Order: sequence, then structure tokens, then C-alpha cells
Amino acid sequence: MARDQEHRCGVALVTLMRHLDGELTGARAALVARHLGACRECRDRLEALARLRRRLRAQQPACDRDTVVRLCAFAALLTRTAR
Ligand SMILES: [Zn+2]
Repeated sequence: MARDQEHRCGVALVTLMRHLDGELTGARAALVARHLGACRECRDRLEALARLRRRLRAQQPACDRDTVVRLCAFAALLTRTAR
């Protein structure tokens, strides 16, 4: 659901991403860690984020968009040159 961008408990998705990346420090990190212990929904969201990230990372070598665009341009160039 698109509405889940801002969770009703007030912890933004971007905060969970920072937590996942280990970017949060000090009191903020402790606060989020404590919240995750208490909020099942945020734990689920964090798990979904981690899963998504793992999947993206696994796919990256095969379908990085820039690479696909460049390969298509290269293929078009080869087709044109061959004629
Ligand atoms: Zn929460």
C-alpha cells in the first residue's frame, strides 16, 4: 500500500532504511532499536526492506538499468553498421 510510506507509529520508511544501513547513531539508533522491539509492524517492514535489498543486490549484475540501456544502444549501433 502506498499509504504505508509514513507508518502510523511515526517511524518513516527512510528511518528504517537508515537503520538497515547502520547509519543511525547514538540516541536515535537506540530509539529505533527499542521501537523495533515493541512494534511488530516495523519489524515486518524492516524485514521486507531487507528482503527487497537482498533481491536487488542479487539482480544487479544482470539487470542494472544503465547497462541494459548501453547494451541496447550498442546493439542498435551494430545493427546499423552491419547494413
Ligand atoms: Zn512502528
